[in-house]
Amino acid sequence: MSDTLSPAEADEFRARCTAFLEEHATGISLDGQPDPRGSIRMGHAKTFQGALTDAGLAGLTYSSEYGGQSLTKDHERIWREEYGKFPNMTSELTISHGMCVPMLNEYGTHEQKSAYLADAIAARTVWCQMFSEPGAGSDVASLQTKAERDGDVWVINGQKVWTTTAHLCDYGIIIARTDPAVAKHAGISMFIIDMNAPGVEVRPINQIDGGQHFNEIFFTDVEVPAAHLLGDLNNGWNMATAMLMYERVAIGSGSTSGVRHNLTDQLIETATKLGRIDEPVIRDQLMQLYIMETTASLVSMRTRADLQAGKTPGPGGSLGKLIGTLNMNFARDLGMEIYGSAGVAWDGDGGNWARFALTSLQGGIAGGTNEIQRNIIGDRVLGLPRDVDVSKNVPFNELKVGTQRD
Ligand SMILES: Cc1cc2nc3c(=O)[nH]c(=O)nc-3n(C[C@H](O)[C@H](O)[C@H](O)COP(=O)(O)OP(=O)(O)OC[C@H]3O[C@@H](n4cnc5c(N)ncnc54)[C@H](O)[C@@H]3O)c2cc1C
Repeated sequence: MSDTLSPAEADEFRARCTAFLEEHATGISLDGQPDPRGSIRMGHAKTFQGALTDAGLAGLTYSSEYGGQSLTKDHERIWREEYGKFPNMTSELTISHGMCVPMLNEYGTHEQKSAYLADAIAARTVWCQMFSEPGAGSDVASLQTKAERDGDVWVINGQKVWTTTAHLCDYGIIIARTDPAVAKHAGISMFIIDMNAPGVEVRPINQIDGGQHFNEIFFTDVEVPAAHLLGDLNNGWNMATAMLMYERVAIGSGSTSGVRHNLTDQLIETATKLGRIDEPVIRDQLMQLYIMETTASLVSMRTRADLQAGKTPGPGGSLGKLIGTLNMNFARDLGMEIYGSAGVAWDGDGGNWARFALTSLQGGIAGGTNEIQRNIIGDRVLGLPRDVDVSKNVPFNELKVGTQRD
């Protein structure tokens, strides 16, 4: 198939997407039920993705050999543009589809892709990302979870933390230390983990907003088949960096395309309802938010265009992620101003703004903090001198990190 669609082909495909979305992207209603662990939302996301698979619209650019559709990047762009006009049904699959599936597709062997990709694309299985540890977040290369080879298996021991949706996942992608005698970035490998394997224990973390969306995970003598090594041995750091780039695109540039200003639209509606839309300061701030959301959309579209051109996401993904977070913070404060005292109420007339305000804090941490995004933009986009890392060439087992400090 040619890489570019004719106008007639594009129109026909767009109409197919719209027809599907009108029927299936009807929004997620919790019917007043609490969903602290996200399982109801995940159920809806899986149902939507299953229908998308049945309609031949899931995994558009992935090979049909592995459960995709072998269609063009133009198809993908059109799908994203149309999906952006409807409620997001698949936010619970952001990590599985935005990060794990691209990594499996890019680095998996034929056997791994044959075994896992089709189920992951269709969301018959859901995947999580296990990078962060209590002593390794921004500096994730200091991780201490270890994988030791024993015959045909790798034996994993250690702890991960902040693992989003792990409790709802079938598989995960983990990075672990496979050679402690070399520099910290050089002795890390990536593996596929069966979340139901003996020795994997998932414990929920209670959040300030009442949710329990992420977890601590403990690994005690977990046996991972040698065939579950993803990519080359001790090349895990390069792959982790690639996965973090996918993450920043998934978080910052979303699953949709086109210019959007959803936060502004929501706050205009609220300000109108509360009779505050004529206040000059509120109008000025709404306009600023509109400009920033529009700019963020344009940055995302450029990042997506790079992806569609076949490039692995680069440091530009950090721009989209940072600006998205800054917009969320701006909208949080503006919303509080518009709602007034009702904004701090847990229930009632505040439109759940208190929950949004608390949840908004996560944006500047997940997928790398704002400071880390600024470092990446400084080093790798603007070409400023790199952050000094005195531990770079020291063997990992001589470093004072995590519990090795004692
Ligand atoms: C909602 C949410 C979901 C998450 N989901 C996952 C997940 O699914 N899987 C996973 O593996 N992890 C996940 N994380 C973890 C996340 O990746 C880490 O929290 C993040 O990388 C920061 O690490 P840390 O919490 O250890 O903070 P630290 O690294 O300890 O940072 C503490 C502070 O120091 C600053 N800092 C650190 N280093 C530098 C530096 N070099 N220059 C300037 N400032 C610096 C940071 O900006 C921050 O303000 C999630 C986090 C959140 C909030």
